[in-house]
Amino acid sequence: VFNFSAGPAVLPVPVLLKAQSELLNYQGSGQSVLELSHRSGLFEHIIEETESLLRELLQIPDHYRVLFLQGGATLQFSMLPLNLATVRQRVDFIDTGSWSQKAMQDAEAFIQTNIVASSKADRYRSIPTDTIRSDADYLHITWNNTLEGTTFTSVPTVDVPLVADFSSSILSEPIDVSQFDVIYAGAQKNLGSAGMTLVIIKEDLLQRTPDRLGSYLRYDTHATHHSLYNTPPTYSIYLTKLVLEWIKEQGFDTIVERNRKQAASLYAYLDQSTLFSNPVAIQDRSRMNIPFTTSETELDEQFLQFAERHQLVNLKGHRSVGGMRASLYNAMPTAGVDALIAVLERFEQGER
Ligand code: PLP
Repeated sequence: VFNFSAGPAVLPVPVLLKAQSELLNYQGSGQSVLELSHRSGLFEHIIEETESLLRELLQIPDHYRVLFLQGGATLQFSMLPLNLATVRQRVDFIDTGSWSQKAMQDAEAFIQTNIVASSKADRYRSIPTDTIRSDADYLHITWNNTLEGTTFTSVPTVDVPLVADFSSSILSEPIDVSQFDVIYAGAQKNLGSAGMTLVIIKEDLLQRTPDRLGSYLRYDTHATHHSLYNTPPTYSIYLTKLVLEWIKEQGFDTIVERNRKQAASLYAYLDQSTLFSNPVAIQDRSRMNIPFTTSETELDEQFLQFAERHQLVNLKGHRSVGGMRASLYNAMPTAGVDALIAVLERFEQGER
């Protein structure tokens, strides 16, 4: 099947095969990767290699720390204000939809929050273009909006630290890390499997953490212990290593270009279709998550069943927005997008 899930998402076949071949006996150790102690040399090598590949692919400057945490991107919604909103106790948000609101709701439990720009009036079909002013402890943005299918294409310039949720687009395009102060992402879309969350944080921010905060919740704990303070999500980190090796092998530029072409061909089809359409402002369209609908809920349902009969799975839109959504993460082959377009065409021509 071709799997269009928004997450956990499709993994590259060579990655799964490599994981399978190493599952029972990792590099002649007689142990499964799942059984390796996180204090063993073998695992230390895995985590070091994962960080080094990430640094290479994303060109992460030396004064940023790379952390591999648990708790999903959702735990970051709390860890960020707990660690960083300690001076003015205020965080600004650009409201671009569901995930930015969730991030804000969690922060509200600890500190004051404020929306400095929002695309709510446009039903989140675009990214706000307002000039942003902030004097909060940091400004939070959701770079790629998984549900709404929008993405930032330029980095807001502000005088305060910029924190960005890259959960659904990390490594799908180059990022200038130096324009951000914190970048975070759950692994289960473009990086590997659920269980690991990547945090890239500028070193000087580690000093903001207050004394009264439990060890796991502190970025400085994880930085000091190189993400080995407690048992990290070992298998998920290992899978990320395999995914990064795969990206490097393919060539990051090749993957970026393929993502661009695949999204462009699906949008081109949707834009000329008289049955299906995508609601997002053209300049803000995501290359990773592409929502689309017919004009009737019943037809949407029929299409989903038709698609499933043709081995195209997990195309149902998020329950809060309905319709369909095709997620085209790095591991989606062009053949999958071509198959989707062919099935959309057949349905539009009346096949059921
Ligand atoms: N942020 C974005 C943009 C997401 O797409 C998701 C999950 O889909 C999350 C945060 C939440 O991630 P997690 O389930 O890892 O907590």
